[in-house]
Amino acid sequence: MAKKAIISKQKSKPRKKNTKKPSQRFLESMKKQLVKKRKDLLKSVKDLEETFCAPMPSVIGEGEENTFEKEFTLSLIESHEQEINLINKALQKILEGTFGICIDCDCFIEKARLKILPATERCLECRKIYEKSSL
Ligand SMILES: [Zn+2]
Repeated sequence: MAKKAIISKQKSKPRKKNTKKPSQRFLESMKKQLVKKRKDLLKSVKDLEETFCAPMPSVIGEGEENTFEKEFTLSLIESHEQEINLINKALQKILEGTFGICIDCDCFIEKARLKILPATERCLECRKIYEKSSL
């Protein structure tokens, strides 16, 4: 009788959490990045708003296209404003000392992730779960 191979089922270990607190230096660099990004976004919103409010050249037959462009500009402004809000939140968190902590699992968000997305509120794992649940 052949021995049954013991399949070592991987027990669901608790996910290894990043508990490394970001250093003050890292926070400073994040702050700079966020402030700069916010400045760019605000400028971009201003430009877009000017475009949006500027009277469209009345070209006969292009009315629909203009409406489409206006809607596009508006959605762009909205997404910029959402990002500015996130940046403001992130900056507030830097002040409070809670920056880089995932709002879902309380771990510290990976540094590499913060470097690309300094205003992110979730770690990669939670982001995946969040995206799945919001589908
Ligand atoms: Zn998380």
